[in-house]
Amino acid sequence: IDQSPSYRRVMLKISGEALMGDQGYGLHPPTVARIAQEVKSVHDMGVEICMVIGGGNIFRGLAGSAQGMERTTADYMGMLATVMNALAMQSALEGIGIFTRVISAIPMDQVCEPYIRRRAVRHLEKGRVCIFAAGTGNPYFTTDTAATLRASEMGCEGVFKGTKVDGVYDKDPNKFADAKRYDTVSYDEALEKNLGVMDATAIALARDNQLPIIVFSLDASGGFRSILNGEGTYTRVQ
Ligand code: UDP
Repeated sequence: IDQSPSYRRVMLKISGEALMGDQGYGLHPPTVARIAQEVKSVHDMGVEICMVIGGGNIFRGLAGSAQGMERTTADYMGMLATVMNALAMQSALEGIGIFTRVISAIPMDQVCEPYIRRRAVRHLEKGRVCIFAAGTGNPYFTTDTAATLRASEMGCEGVFKGTKVDGVYDKDPNKFADAKRYDTVSYDEALEKNLGVMDATAIALARDNQLPIIVFSLDASGGFRSILNGEGTYTRVQ
């Protein structure tokens, strides 16, 4: 019996930092291309894909406000950074034959589409990868919350958070040799123990909509596809 979960529509959330390679800042085209290949291999399985990409490789609102900038202004700059990352991913995906739409929470019609829920659903049905940009469109939120929100609106079966580690640990696996990875963990435990899955707003929204969060490593080639096939190691927050 095939017990692997079969997904029809998923959300892939990656941080902006996942696109910067070893550079420490900005976009590293070979890294963007590698992640585009990961997305393609899942798209080839017939899965409908939504994406949210952070902006931390370019600008974070909190960093700006720590330097004296007004917080809301800094957050809008962070949201604009996510649009740049979304465009880079669009370009990489279309270069390997995957049709995409960049859909922004803040309308900028010359650059990409505005967010219209029904239109986005239609794109997914037609096999286009929808890259949701500009976060939620509101300051004081994060792209983790945007990913959870859009995943709920689009009816995704899970938010797949691609990171550098293969799941959620009880302590930092890079510092402690005896760190233990959770196979599954409840939303409440993740919140209570502050396990660093996502920020609290995002976890609470996922909990309230019974949307599982799957934390996995995007470092290994083929990682995203094997996780969707129920293979490999990951943590499921549910
Ligand atoms: N941001 C925001 N509202 C949102 C999403 C993002 O204000 O709904 C801003 C916020 O300043 C954040 C920045 O955009 O620091 C980049 O997003 P995030 O930090 O989530 O990116 P990541 O850490 O995933 O790269």
